[in-house]
Amino acid sequence: MPLPIKNYTKEELVELLKKMGEPRFRATQLFKWLYQKGVTDFTTMTDISKISQRKFDATFLTHSLEIETSEISRDGTTKYLYRLSDGQAVEGVLIPDSPRLTLCVSTQVGCRMGCAFCKTARMGWRRDLQAGEIVDQVCRVQAAIGPKRKITNLVFMGMGEPLDNLANTLKAIEILGAPDGFQFSHRRITVSTCGLVDQLQTLGEKAKRFRLAVSLNAADNETRSRLMPINRTYPIERLLSACRAISLRNRERITFEYVMLKGVNDRERDAKALINLFKGFKAKINLIPFNETEGIPFKRPDEVSIRKFQELLLKAHMTAIIRDSRGDDISAACGQLATASPAS
Ligand code: SAH
Repeated sequence: MPLPIKNYTKEELVELLKKMGEPRFRATQLFKWLYQKGVTDFTTMTDISKISQRKFDATFLTHSLEIETSEISRDGTTKYLYRLSDGQAVEGVLIPDSPRLTLCVSTQVGCRMGCAFCKTARMGWRRDLQAGEIVDQVCRVQAAIGPKRKITNLVFMGMGEPLDNLANTLKAIEILGAPDGFQFSHRRITVSTCGLVDQLQTLGEKAKRFRLAVSLNAADNETRSRLMPINRTYPIERLLSACRAISLRNRERITFEYVMLKGVNDRERDAKALINLFKGFKAKINLIPFNETEGIPFKRPDEVSIRKFQELLLKAHMTAIIRDSRGDDISAACGQLATASPAS
């Protein structure tokens, strides 16, 4: 069985190559070809001998997925459907927001967190993505848009719960940050989680490799448990104390996402509860107006109530921004990603 080469960190590749009788610098060469030059055919890697090229060709697979379709939205957002080698599929979204060009990546086929408002949750969990399948989303999209435009930021906000596939997510982040590769710095990678406290606690120093976003979505346990079943395992107090422990180490603020649902969490008393929750805790709140999605029984609040909610937070000296919806005409916005079962 050929080995998917994008599954390996630089150090792992060094070890593997050593067993094949290759010098250490070969891993550096391969990283540069694969991630900096976007070259996936070993026979065109001109600084590698023909013998080694042939050896690599017989040992490794350079692709972990293919872009099957892409769809451009009115606002310039592009949604990609990636086909995996076992026939499963995941989606990704490229969001131009000059000077940034952000790619939203997926970490699982489906998701098992079961959030009531999210389309991906309806698929259930099918499987975790391997590190190479996460990395290759970035490679494929970068190759598709050409060298004139560079992906500048990554958000782990596509399909799946990154902390439910923690090892592969961390490995992908290491590969994407490698000095001989894409060199994404920790400031340009955001990992969003529904709040898996045990995993947050095991992150330790690794939390410094990315920015953290936490999907809060409600300020009281009753509402949050209704929206996000994970809250029954890790209620708000536990989640926030885990977050406090992390942000102290990081000296960077955690972003809390708050999907605004009409009549559910958008009232004045919800804003007050949110303000209370963050007394003495400097956080950034991203208000995300709900993207209405077929088959999901929630509504987006009107513009006026969203603004009013934000005003209340601002008056209490919180940082609160309204994140505008992108790509909703092609179902590429937050919570609208889902794929059909693979044809069997
Ligand atoms: N599982 C991770 C990553 C997914 S990110 C997480 O929960 O954070 C998806 C973000 O979009 C989350 O903040 C989620 O609350 C939000 N979201 C989900 N469905 C949405 C919808 N229909 N409209 C707006 N935001 C939504």
